[in-house]
Amino acid sequence: MVRYGSIEAGGTKFVLAVGDNDLSIIKRVQIPTTYPKETLARCINFFSENMVDALGVGSFGPIDVAEDSDTYGQILATPKPEWQGTNILHELTKALKIPISVTTDVNASAYGEYIVGGGKNVSSLVYFTIGTGIGGGAIQDDQFIGGIGHAEMGHGFVMPRSDDGFSGSCPFHKNHCYEGLASGPTIEGRLGIPGQMVPRTDKVFDLISYYVSQMLFNCYLSLRPQKIILGGSVLSETELPRIQKYFAQFNHDYVVTPPLSDMIVTSKMVDNSSATIGNFALAKKQYSTV
Ligand code: ZN
Repeated sequence: MVRYGSIEAGGTKFVLAVGDNDLSIIKRVQIPTTYPKETLARCINFFSENMVDALGVGSFGPIDVAEDSDTYGQILATPKPEWQGTNILHELTKALKIPISVTTDVNASAYGEYIVGGGKNVSSLVYFTIGTGIGGGAIQDDQFIGGIGHAEMGHGFVMPRSDDGFSGSCPFHKNHCYEGLASGPTIEGRLGIPGQMVPRTDKVFDLISYYVSQMLFNCYLSLRPQKIILGGSVLSETELPRIQKYFAQFNHDYVVTPPLSDMIVTSKMVDNSSATIGNFALAKKQYSTV
């Protein structure tokens, strides 16, 4: 039986998984993200004990995802300096000697949604994660959208609301990008308490919905995807109606949209598995082309 592997390489943890030919999860474990050598050695160890035929890696970024690039699979300028310059693809390929595909964590999630999640009946979708950071991945007809590098939708230009005096958390764009105004750390930045302790009725979630809606609206104007799927820990089902309401306000009946309650949805995949399943599917694609 053919088996596929998944590595979700995150800033605080790596999630390693083995799946079968139907992309069902057989085994899934978590290891902390420490130094590259140590963390990758643990990945190699795991996949030496749990053999797979191909591997999909969805990594934190920025990372070189251009398959024809000399530095494909290499972590670029990141706030985690010890990881900068690490080529995940080279290290894993050298040790495991199997086909490996590398993309961003958010692209992997987008692909999982496209294959088996909320996007399985459409040909174009965008997946956003709103968590410690904000990122977006777009798929059109089975391909990720992006050329020079992967999309960086979380750092798009945002219009701060007049009742929001927060100075922003993005080291690059302060309060002028979505991540700087709507990521998880902005809640604590505004209120002084961690986001998970703040009730959903707090005004901060209205602000975040407002900014996320700007991001979705701009994305919709640029790409006109059939579905926009939201993941990550910051937003829940509760904020969806507000996001849809602001989206309609920004649009002013200009572009035609499907019913917003169908088009803008949260991820329904159990156990947050969209990236894992996406990685399996990308590994399967890679396996079938070699
Ligand atoms: Zn930014």
